[in-house]
Formats: sequence, C-alpha cells, structure tokens
Amino acid sequence: MKMLKNYIDGEWVDSSSKNFLEVRNPASAEVLAKVPLSTATEVDVAVQAAQKAYWEWRTTPPVQRARYFYRLKDVLENNFEELAKLTTIEAGKTMDESRGELRRAIEMVEVACGIPSLMMGACLEDITKNIDSTAFKQPMGVFAAVAPYNFPLMVPFWFWPFAVACGNTFVLKPSEQVPQSQIRIMEIIDEEIGFPPGVLNLVNGGKETVTALLEHPLIKGVSFVGSSPVARIIYSKCGETGKRVQSLGGAKNFHIIMPDANIKETVGAIMGSAFGCAGQRCLATSVLLAVGDVYEPLKKAVVEAASKIKVGYGLDESVQMGPVISKAHKEKVLSYINKGLEEGAELLLDGRKIKVSGFEEGYFIGPTVFDKLKPEMVIANEEIFGPVLGIMQVKTMDEGIEIIKKNPFGNSTSIFTASGKAAREFVYKAECSMMGINIGIAAPMAFFPFGGTKGSFFGDIKGHGREIVDFFTDRKVVVTRWV
Ligand code: NAD
Repeated sequence: MKMLKNYIDGEWVDSSSKNFLEVRNPASAEVLAKVPLSTATEVDVAVQAAQKAYWEWRTTPPVQRARYFYRLKDVLENNFEELAKLTTIEAGKTMDESRGELRRAIEMVEVACGIPSLMMGACLEDITKNIDSTAFKQPMGVFAAVAPYNFPLMVPFWFWPFAVACGNTFVLKPSEQVPQSQIRIMEIIDEEIGFPPGVLNLVNGGKETVTALLEHPLIKGVSFVGSSPVARIIYSKCGETGKRVQSLGGAKNFHIIMPDANIKETVGAIMGSAFGCAGQRCLATSVLLAVGDVYEPLKKAVVEAASKIKVGYGLDESVQMGPVISKAHKEKVLSYINKGLEEGAELLLDGRKIKVSGFEEGYFIGPTVFDKLKPEMVIANEEIFGPVLGIMQVKTMDEGIEIIKKNPFGNSTSIFTASGKAAREFVYKAECSMMGINIGIAAPMAFFPFGGTKGSFFGDIKGHGREIVDFFTDRKVVVTRWV
C-alpha cells in the first residue's frame, strides 16, 4: 500500500503519526493510498523549516522570485495530462473538469509572475515641507493554507503562489480526501523547480493537524477553504491567536430565470452549473427561481437535458458527470433527497438508484431535479453539495431577490435575462459576491478576488486577485527627512 509522505524542508519524510486514512477512487471505491494524520510535532518541524528559510527567501529580489513561477508555469504545462488524470482518479471528476481546474491553477501562477508590479507600494514627496513618505509592502514570515476536497488542484494555488512570490514561506495542508495531486505537484516542483528547502512545505492531515497550524506562534496567517462550520472555527481561532485569516465557507446558490431568458442557452448553462463536478462546487447552482411564465417551459427543458447527462468514470472521455467524493458524502446527499420528499417537494428526476456498469461500488448519484420547492424547506436553504437541483416558481424578480437575501449564505448567484435593466437591478440588490449575468458558473479569474459574503466568507481579503498581496504583506510606512 502506498503510504503518503510529508514534504518538509525540501525532503520527503514518513509521518510518525499512528493514524492514517484511506484515500479512495470514488468511482470504484478502490483504496489508492493511505494518508497520515500528521501530529502537532510534525507541524512544528514544518513551520520551523519554513521560518528558517524565510530570511534568505525574503531577501531574494521579487524579480528573481518571479522567475521560479515562470518556470513553474512551463513545468505544470508539461505535466498537464498526468496531473489531470490523477485528479480524475482521486477526486472523481471528468477529464475536462480536471483539465479545467488545472488550467485555473496555472492562471494563478501566471498572475503571480507579475509580483514585482503587484507588490509595489506607494510614495509621496513633501507629506509636509521637506519630508517624504514611502509605504512598502513587506512579506511577513510563514503562512499556511488548508484546502477542501472539491478542487484539489486549484484551491491551494489560490494562495501559495502569491504568498511565496511575495517573499513569505509556506505550509500547505491539502484535503486528506484528495492529497495526491498536490503531493505530485510538490514532487515535480522539487525535481524541476527547486525552491530553496523550507520555502514550500506540505503536511498531510486532518483536524488535529489544522489545529496545530492555527495554534503555532510562528504562523502569521491562514487561508482556509471548506465548509462554513469549519470556516467559522478557523476564523475565530485565528482571532484568538492573533493571525491574519481569510476563511472561505460553503454556499447555497440561486439562479433567477426571467421570462425573457433564452431557454436553450440558459438550460445549457444550468446543466454545467448544477451537475458539473457532480454538484460539488461552491459556485454550483442549487435552486432555480423561475419568474412567472418561464416556469413550465424551463422545468420541461431542465428535466429533458438533465436526464441525458452521461454518468460514469471520468477517465472515459464521453462521461459528463462523475461520482461524489465518498460513501459518507453520498449518504448525506441521499438523506437530503429523502428530506426533500418528506417536506413535500416533487421529484421530477430521481438519481438515487443509478447504476454504472463496471463501477457498482462507486459513489454515484444521478442528476436529480426537484420541483415545487418552498422557501422554508431544508433543501431550499442548506448546502447539499451534490447533483440535486430544485425549482421554485416566483412571481417577480424582487421575490427571488428576497429569497436570496434571507439565505444565510452569500457566495454566488446568477440571473438569466435579455433585459439590461433587470440585470442591473439584480446586481445592485442581491447580496452575493460572485454574480453572473447569463453565466452559469460566475467564477472570478486569477486576477479578480474570489470569495463570498454573509455565511460564505469570514475575513476581509478574499482569495487571489490583486488584493491578496495585501493579505500576504504588511504595509510599512517610512517617513523621511534629509534636509
Ligand atoms: P471541510 O470543511 O470538511 O474540510 C476542509 C478542510 O478543513 C480539510 O482540509 C479538513 O481537513 C479541515 N477540517 C475539517 N474539519 C476541521 C475542524 N473541525 N477543524 C479544523 N480543520 C478541519 O470541507 P470539504 O468537505 O473538504 O469541502 C467542501 C466544502 O468546501 C463545501 O462546503 C464547499 O462549499 C466549500 N468550498 C468553498 C469554496 C469557496 O470558495 N467558498 C470553494 C471550494 C469549496
């Protein structure tokens, strides 16, 4: 059995932990490897290595640090298919989904190459007579990131390339459910890029490993992505220990479909959004708010399109939707479907009994569509994180916006319409941070900030984008008089 290692101070080391978890292929349930739940002592060794590497890395000029990232882009391109395949095997994605998230990861590296410009501060002559002032953006030391399972390739890249390009050193804790793609990336980096030892470290683990990072006095800040209950814990713990924190949580995303929407294009976008990655996206649409007369034709077109989605193992290029991540998660999603039925929602398409030939043990759920959702239902309010889409009829756009406002999450929402006026009003009023107009998955690219509001985000500076440099640097203001 493959026992996964930690990458600390430029070396691959066996964990001393007694506790390991199985990493499984979600399509076949085959055990691929065992991942250690690293101890607080191992976290300390990694953080100390990062701290030791910090000063030399911090004094390496930004333009030289950027060169590592130019090379990293090429190296990731050269290993593109291998990394995508590994993600499909471990995370259950289709090959195109894995390729898509790797493309996004590479875009982060491309943006991080611009660090000499992104890191520039500000200066002003004569803040008062003969006195000048300069504000530098200085790196701070060791940062850490904790990642979720649903974008194993991409999410760590929302943070570490920017942190390291800024001159910090880093400890990454990938999701224990899907650690292998980041491990493979570290191997490739170790062999072909060669950051100085200790600049970039990877420690596998779970809750205790994260707690050790949160409590470590040398960690300056933590970037977290995961479910909202954990995101809240991370946020408050970092408050207690005086660390910077950006903590991205869960989501419940609504799409408003106006009567003037182009049904064919709208339904195409909805399919990708609701069922792509088997619904395990923080930007996935969960509920369609059909305004007025669009309800009947929309419902018909959605069920027709969803029933044609080919479900199976992602290594088969013709497959359009893979399994969910684990047996436990499958059971959770099924319990939401059962809850919806208990609450009186009507099942138009039932994915519970799907069979994928040759993959009988896999964690598959077919596309599932509910009608007659009501705002007070659990399935209309909680994050399901599976291929389950609900439809609710509303009379007006404003009624839809009220439902979005009342939901505790605030990650993403979209409107489908031919009216610029309606779209503007929607953007103005709805309380979500990532919005689409005739777009199914309103994902900000590497040069824009990624993150929600309300119960979907805790902190102030979001993932990637220009602003993340402010998360990974301190503003040092120098006031100077020479005359
Ligand atoms: P999760 O919260 O279970 O785990 C995320 C990470 O936190 C893992 O690395 C895990 O080891 C660690 N962890 C779990 N419990 C912990 C605890 N009690 N204390 C400290 N650390 C703990 O999330 P997941 O199931 O891996 O990922 C799915 C969730 O992530 C969904 O809710 C999804 O919406 C969210 N997500 C959000 C975004 C976003 O941009 N807002 C992006 C991707 C995923």
